[in-house]
Amino acid sequence: MLSFDNTEVAFSGKTASDLRRSYWLFKMVSNSALVSFGRSFTTFAINTHLPIRAFIKATIFRQFCGGEDIHECLATVESLGKYNVGSILDYSVEGMKSDADFDKTAGEIIDTINEAKTNRHISFAVFKPTGVGSISLHEKVGAKTTLSLAEQEAWKKIQVRFDNICKKAHDNNVQLLIDAEETWMQQAADDLTHVMMEKYNKERAIIFNTAQLYRKDRLDYIKRACDDAKSKKYFLGLKLVRGAYMEKERARAAKMNYPSPINDTKTDTDKLYDAALQYCIEHIDVISVCAGSHNENSSMLLASLMEKKNIPHNHPHIWFSQLLGMSDHISFNLAKEGYNVAKYVPYGPVKNVLPYLIRRAQENTSVKGQTGRELSLIIKEKQRRASAK
Ligand SMILES: Cc1cc2nc3c(=O)[nH]c(=O)nc-3n(C[C@H](O)[C@H](O)[C@H](O)COP(=O)(O)OP(=O)(O)OC[C@H]3O[C@@H](n4cnc5c(N)ncnc54)[C@H](O)[C@@H]3O)c2cc1C
Repeated sequence: MLSFDNTEVAFSGKTASDLRRSYWLFKMVSNSALVSFGRSFTTFAINTHLPIRAFIKATIFRQFCGGEDIHECLATVESLGKYNVGSILDYSVEGMKSDADFDKTAGEIIDTINEAKTNRHISFAVFKPTGVGSISLHEKVGAKTTLSLAEQEAWKKIQVRFDNICKKAHDNNVQLLIDAEETWMQQAADDLTHVMMEKYNKERAIIFNTAQLYRKDRLDYIKRACDDAKSKKYFLGLKLVRGAYMEKERARAAKMNYPSPINDTKTDTDKLYDAALQYCIEHIDVISVCAGSHNENSSMLLASLMEKKNIPHNHPHIWFSQLLGMSDHISFNLAKEGYNVAKYVPYGPVKNVLPYLIRRAQENTSVKGQTGRELSLIIKEKQRRASAK
């Protein structure tokens, strides 16, 4: 029977020294003052070329990233694969601004698709729309603002990058997730992604859009998208997440005086997320779903919805996904029970993935002095191993 309590399974891929390293890392990041200081110091040190790259690489980078390039990630991909946990190579370089940067990122995503087509442990490719085009242009296109000639040219280039990536995924039969970002850029990305789904999802869901269920409007969006897929005869690929930009969304809405698009409470988000899972399972003939979540209840709910409908654990339309270095108790226990699981394996040069690492550290700081979930699980497993000796 599926349970997320089994830390022996959760950490089966971790040696004693891996566990010790993770323990000290989560112990350090549980201290919010330390994380706050670390954040400022690290950014300063990297920008002024202080020699701390090796330290970051051996500690927090090693916990949450697969490597600095695709090749360096392959050992992680292999070791997850040993336990039937797939990988999703996630080029996590942020803050791109120029056409040259966007082309470089698009080329990198295509390289991940090339790797995925021959590596059976790589389950999906992934990209962020703002990695291949500016957020301000996405915003203008979404708001139907009149574009200058230069902007029209730039938007055409974004469309071409999207199409090149999606075509490559389709031609090589590699499933592709497209991440969701801020509401003010998302409409343009949604529109473009739906064009791609209609074009490339005729035989199966290759292209997956992402729905953030912290948004009040996303369950309705999912239902509309499903109707559209049915009427135009293509498969709908959906990654379901709760959403990562809540503070930013609320702050902008307050500043610009419009109603926040985000649910008022966490309970509302949880309800919508779980309702979306239920809807996807009810329409599993048309929808392929990837549940991107570290929430134990939602992960358990998806498994029990499958059970109720007698859907096999390894049904090709249903995936669970977590981030590398987090929630291994969910990923490894699901994989052991034969469910399809894949972890995002972020990668990129240490300097460029710093914003990603800082977010992971902040997420794991202690709330009101409580021991965080990752740290508690590591302590439990250390104790289990000690008493098993
Ligand atoms: C594989 C994977 C892929 C992801 N891809 C994306 C992506 O493309 N785009 C993206 O935006 N995020 C993405 N995320 C991050 C995700 O959106 C969440 O921020 C993160 O996973 C935490 O949510 P949870 O479901 O794991 O669990 P939980 O810890 O149960 O939920 C935390 C989330 O609940 C919501 N929430 C918290 N407090 C409140 C409140 N007071 N009111 C309303 N809602 C609240 C927020 O969304 C918060 O992140 C991804 C996560 C994973 C694991």
